[in-house]
Amino acid sequence: MILVHTPRKLISELIECRQVERCIVMCTIAALEPGMGWYHLTCKVCSRKVQYEPPLVTGDRDEDDLNKFKIYCAVCKCYDPELLPRYKLHLVVQDKTGSSKFVIFDHLALQMVHKPCIELTGPVTNEIQDQDLIPMALQELIGKTYLFKVEILRENFAYKYDTFKVNKISTNRDIISEFHKCG
Ligand SMILES: [Zn+2]
Repeated sequence: MILVHTPRKLISELIECRQVERCIVMCTIAALEPGMGWYHLTCKVCSRKVQYEPPLVTGDRDEDDLNKFKIYCAVCKCYDPELLPRYKLHLVVQDKTGSSKFVIFDHLALQMVHKPCIELTGPVTNEIQDQDLIPMALQELIGKTYLFKVEILRENFAYKYDTFKVNKISTNRDIISEFHKCG
């Protein structure tokens, strides 16, 4: 049960917090952060994000052409691993006290979207895909209110990194409304 033993914070309190801790924030998804994409390509085996290694051949240094890059998994230490797209959602969230940004990884995003990421991306190719087009299943998240268990990390207050990492979500209506009453 995610709510027990974790203090609740409003977004204004989250932003002002100056210590490492976890808290519960009840807030509404206002948007997907523009330009941040909504998934990343991961290694199917270890689920870590893959890297793009530039071509070793210099000469015509066409470094912008990512399609010429080799895909590498630093964990499995292999080139061209089998790929699986997984969600990495950058959400703009708000409550009555302000707005903030949350990053949400695959297994948690699934709780909200109810479809595996690959169902929305379609078959993966090695080509870099344009992520500006937000699928309807993700656009439908906008306006939804959930409970998020958020990690306040040192980089958030020490370096003013304004995106917070979510490590649990409750989408359960009853819990949310109960929470709302307590607020
Ligand atoms: Zn791997």
